[in-house]
Amino acid sequence: MHGILAVVNYELFMAEAIAEARRGVADGEQPFAAVAVIDDAMIARDHHRIGATDDPTAHAVLLTLRAAAAKIGTRRLPEATIFTTLEPCAMCVGALVEARVRALVYAVPDPERGAAGSLLQLAQEPRLSHRLAVVSGVREAEARRMLAEVPSASV
Ligand SMILES: [Zn+2]
Repeated sequence: MHGILAVVNYELFMAEAIAEARRGVADGEQPFAAVAVIDDAMIARDHHRIGATDDPTAHAVLLTLRAAAAKIGTRRLPEATIFTTLEPCAMCVGALVEARVRALVYAVPDPERGAAGSLLQLAQEPRLSHRLAVVSGVREAEARRMLAEVPSASV
């Protein structure tokens, strides 16, 4: 019954990502967040911090990857699954490939910038040195409702 357990955990950790995104909104950021999970334990989480830092690379996925790697004490995270509210951009998927992350689970596809299958498919590009599993649509309706509450974030 591993499959059913996995689906339950996807829902659980995506709920955490959505909660983290709401914390970002409360800080005046866009509602984009990420959670890093290893062995069913959440080891890092963060939201976009572009507004607070004026750093165009302060995306939730990058911040979460940095925090996870620092916590584990390694530059590669082959056991990690990353949960995101929105399909990550090319920069973030590139970082997931560099970090050798095992899997990406996202809620809402992003046809304008998504690089895990919508606009581009970098997560499973055969010419790159690493490919990761991609699951989409987890808690999508809930995440879309959250995005709709922040008009500039709607996709
Ligand atoms: Zn990004």
